[in-house]
Amino acid sequence: MELLTFKRGVHPPHGKYLTENKAIEDLSPNQLLVYPMAQHIGAPAECLVKKGDRVLVGQKIGQASGFISANIHSSVSGTVKDVKPVLTAGGTKSLAVIVENDGQYEEIEMPKPKPYTEMSKEEIAAIVKEAGVVGMGGATFPTNVKLTPAPDKKIDAIILNGAECEPYLTCDHRLMLEETNMIVEGLQIILHMFPEAKGYIGIEDNKKDAIQKLKEATKDIPNIEVKALKTKYPQGAEKQLIYSVMKREVPSGKLPADVGCIVQNVNTVREIYNAVVNGRPTISRVVTVTGEAVKEPKNFRVRLGMSYKELVDACGGFKEDPVKIISGGPMMGMAISTLDVPVIKGSSGILCLTAKQAVLPEESSCIRCGKCVEACPMFLVPSAIDSLGRRKEYEAFEEEHGMDCIECGSCTFVCPAKRHLIQSIRTSKKTVLANKRKK
Ligand code: SF4
Ligand code: SF4
Repeated sequence: MELLTFKRGVHPPHGKYLTENKAIEDLSPNQLLVYPMAQHIGAPAECLVKKGDRVLVGQKIGQASGFISANIHSSVSGTVKDVKPVLTAGGTKSLAVIVENDGQYEEIEMPKPKPYTEMSKEEIAAIVKEAGVVGMGGATFPTNVKLTPAPDKKIDAIILNGAECEPYLTCDHRLMLEETNMIVEGLQIILHMFPEAKGYIGIEDNKKDAIQKLKEATKDIPNIEVKALKTKYPQGAEKQLIYSVMKREVPSGKLPADVGCIVQNVNTVREIYNAVVNGRPTISRVVTVTGEAVKEPKNFRVRLGMSYKELVDACGGFKEDPVKIISGGPMMGMAISTLDVPVIKGSSGILCLTAKQAVLPEESSCIRCGKCVEACPMFLVPSAIDSLGRRKEYEAFEEEHGMDCIECGSCTFVCPAKRHLIQSIRTSKKTVLANKRKK
């Protein structure tokens, strides 16, 4: 089998063995559900409810407040207990609606839409927008925006991202095995919007069963092809995936649509299907709860708004005290200090590491070995942009393309001096963006 790949990258230990064979389990929520209004890239949603209101499953409780923003819906029925700022897994505070679950799961009327084959491109994008679908691979970019590129962009490739290159996470893998047809039909919906395009499903070859399953499911669909990808990190990053599948390079500062591509995560496409075929908003997602500190790691389908703690408890809690807990995977995830944060649309995993896995090394001076340069999939010189950022030379940081860093962490992973490269570069990028906003 020919394996497609990109240049550079690294091979971190997978850690996927803990959950890759664990079927998705449905987990019912406890009493309180918390819905931050900022759970996507862009402007936070505007809260539509107040303390004391009764809400139903599927009811819109947050209204998208700009072009780049997304609606938020309640995942249970119950009473709004409060509307107040809460801590999110991203480490920031967001205004949130707190709903007391009445256990009835009474739904708002969600009429089934007409067949998508009778819908226009605009109608589909509007349904996806209303349903609050965002990139569920972690990027959380509003999906309707991605599905409506400027008219001069000639889209000829829709690429489904089933790489799931982030170590430990298996939610996309399980979804591809267990909800295969929804993913394929979701892709067909996008292809209906872009009839000139061909569909590709890119999957790393450490998920051979998913490659097989999707090949079988698409064998009679001439405009969809499953592509086996070499297992290498960060294979699932957009630009690297486009290079692997199409051999096209997205230039610095440009978007996938500039090279004729739209990339969607498999979980997101499942939500497109859910919205367009079933008429239902995004109110749940699959989350991997894993790591050597967890008693029984699992994959769950959970309602948005449940707390991370409920998920860890449903795994039997910890068998060893975790020294580090990460929202997401070990390479791109965010370390969190509490499990008292809600599951949001971008919550792909909760990773709980023991002292053995979570080495927190002291950094030492750069020995100019060049390993970070060899690893960087964006062809940057991480040691140089790291130094420029630390010296607050932001103009030079930008000239050296520091803003092109995709924060994959490959440089940090290979650095023998244990330099905290990704952390430092991430901070510099934030400062550059903040300085620009001030101007
Ligand atoms: S500089 Fe950025 S893109 Fe390059 S390896 Fe480091 S984190 Fe990844
Ligand atoms: S890998 Fe680390 S020690 Fe080597 S050049 Fe890069 S920053 Fe310096």
